[in-house]
Amino acid sequence: MDMVLTKEWEKRGNLILVNGRVPLEEDAGQRMIPALEEYPDILLAWEAALHLRRALLAVCGDGEIVPVSGYRSLREQQEIWDDSLAKNGEEFTRSFVALPGHSEHQTGLAIDLALKKDEIDFIRPDFPYEGICGEFRKIASEYGFVERYPAGKEKITGIAHEPWHFRYVGYPHSRIMEMEGLTLEEYLELLRGYPDLCRPFRFQDRGKTYGIILVPGNTQENEKLMLPTGSVCKMSGGDGQGVIVTFWEEEQ
Ligand SMILES: [Zn+2]
Repeated sequence: MDMVLTKEWEKRGNLILVNGRVPLEEDAGQRMIPALEEYPDILLAWEAALHLRRALLAVCGDGEIVPVSGYRSLREQQEIWDDSLAKNGEEFTRSFVALPGHSEHQTGLAIDLALKKDEIDFIRPDFPYEGICGEFRKIASEYGFVERYPAGKEKITGIAHEPWHFRYVGYPHSRIMEMEGLTLEEYLELLRGYPDLCRPFRFQDRGKTYGIILVPGNTQENEKLMLPTGSVCKMSGGDGQGVIVTFWEEEQ
């Protein structure tokens, strides 16, 4: 199967990196739907929303685990920033609120979750490591989600530990990141070492073998990739410097 790579893929897809150094350059371009049907105002990209719903069903967390914040427009992020700056001061705001233009929430791929309580802190919701939230954490990566800002990785992510913030990167990337203990920044760095279709990063799970490569930006325009016969592939941008191609063999 031939795949033709185009520049458009650099800024789209589930592996898009948005952090203090890398802004979101254009709109997410994904169709947004409610993260959960009971919360019509909290939106997520449709693929992320469907997987969140499935994960919550799997742990029977629907009702006990609630979405607090999903997709935000640039304007909403600006309002949250201004509001927190006025109420909490600069140090707190810089630690817990992303600069407008630099929030993952603008991609529609990030969701803040909370354990259901009468009062929920909007900026720092309670999402513990035990109980139903702990159960959700155990299976989240099966459904494409990772805890995006873990403790001990603050220097890499530029964001303080946020136990409530989950990012949809899609399976199998979520499994690999979790098993290897990698943040999205580190995972993209790892993939940078696999630019060649003949020597992809390989991952085996659920009886399937996945091949993953990161085609560097400077060589990718209209490049033709000859994928193995019978394989399907999915593409995504990363940090804007190339396209990640994931391919696997579909069952006959
Ligand atoms: Zn968040």
